[in-house]
Amino acid sequence: MLRILVCVKQVPDVDQLRMDPETGSLIRDGVPSILNPQDANALSAALSVKVSFGGEVTAITMGPPMAESALRECLAAGADRAVLVTDRAFGGADTLATSYVIASAAGTLGGFDLIFCGKETIDGATGQMGAQLAERFDASQITGALLVLGVDEAARAIRAERELERGVETLEASLPCLLTMEKTNYPARIPNLKGKLRAKKAEITVLTASDIPGLDRDRIGDPGSPTKVPRMFPPVLPEPGVMIDEGGAEANAARLCELIRGV
Ligand code: FAD
Repeated sequence: MLRILVCVKQVPDVDQLRMDPETGSLIRDGVPSILNPQDANALSAALSVKVSFGGEVTAITMGPPMAESALRECLAAGADRAVLVTDRAFGGADTLATSYVIASAAGTLGGFDLIFCGKETIDGATGQMGAQLAERFDASQITGALLVLGVDEAARAIRAERELERGVETLEASLPCLLTMEKTNYPARIPNLKGKLRAKKAEITVLTASDIPGLDRDRIGDPGSPTKVPRMFPPVLPEPGVMIDEGGAEANAARLCELIRGV
């Protein structure tokens, strides 16, 4: 049976985020938290693979205790199990420390044949986690995956389509394999009532730092994070453009010359 892991993150609804112009910090008060939209697509892909090729789908997140609600969304949509990796010691983690903790936590759950990630989050949006996790799992990786064509568990192989700038590439990779998913073919699943009720009652495995044997405390949280953010500021937007429409090419050109001369 395929063991499938889906990495998900709870994010603030960025459409509602504001920045304090004085301090440069984000104003999170009153901003709802949601399941990162691309992770809902990654979960959808994992569930499709389960339906076609069999398997068990585990959703995992590293985050504060409230990230449990994102996991319950995953359970409602069809995930079999959910794992919350949470500890104050994980706070202030950059992508390096986050991928270390997630891979270490997943290691306590046994091996995985397939790992699904979103392409990026809507808050951090580094897009680094997929590649870092693939290295940490010692897995092959298919980034920007569009469609899973087949999984052959006996041959330890997966075939998938991957989006390129101008076209689509078909790749075959060995298991374990990590895929970062495009949303095109895997719309988010809408949970039904049965799923919601099951998710409400389901037990979620909680792992703290001390539940992960051998976890190196120097590699987690703020101390384990070489990336520092010295300042945040809203982007300065350029002046809006001017449409020139003087009624003809010559008149437009004349007006353009005036604008260049600053008239
Ligand atoms: P991406 O690389 O864009 O995500 C790609 C995919 O990886 C996602 O679609 C998802 O499938 C998976 N993924 C991403 N994050 C997680 C996760 N947490 N669990 C499971 N799967 C995941 N964040 C905080 O919440 N608290 C902090 O205190 C904090 N401090 C930070 C300090 C620094 C200096 C920096 C640079 C970042 C900090 N962050 C903090 C942000 C944190 O590092 C990132 O949110 C996290 O590493 C994921 O990066 P990303 O959002 O760019 O994910």
